[in-house]
Amino acid sequence: MITVTGTLVWYYHICPRETWLIAHQIVADQDDSNVEYGRFLQEHVYEREKKELTIGHLKVDVMKSREGQLIIGEVKKSSASQESARMQLLFYLYELKQMGIEAEGELLFPEERRKQRVVLDEAGIREVEILKEKVVDIVSKQLPPPPMKIKWCRNCAYRELCWA
Ligand code: SF4
Repeated sequence: MITVTGTLVWYYHICPRETWLIAHQIVADQDDSNVEYGRFLQEHVYEREKKELTIGHLKVDVMKSREGQLIIGEVKKSSASQESARMQLLFYLYELKQMGIEAEGELLFPEERRKQRVVLDEAGIREVEILKEKVVDIVSKQLPPPPMKIKWCRNCAYRELCWA
């Protein structure tokens, strides 16, 4: 049985091949500077309000309460992959709703000093359900999709694997 996680949802929008590689625990280059930077941001930015939340298969960067409303935040390096980040957050809101927890989302782009509100409405629920089906479909295949040259390859930790 395949468990769809926020990480897989995020990568599906970046590169379906990468989603498969991660799901099958093919280890990427851990010394890659982008991997390092992402980790740095996770650990140091918004430290004051950061409370990492783990519920089952969900790991959420920021959780806080504003006027009685639970806010789930997701910290991202840049808004270049904003659609991935939005879907990941929608996925978290969807999964929490399945557990009976109502929350709103906030995408945080610290370098750009920007936030974006994300709300799970009926259209969002449908989007998440379709996306979950797509992720399960790709991950359950025996082999990954072939590499495709996309703008993300340049900074991808799997680039040696795909293009060496
Ligand atoms: S190098 Fe390119 S094709 Fe390969 S996993 Fe990364 S983004 Fe996908």
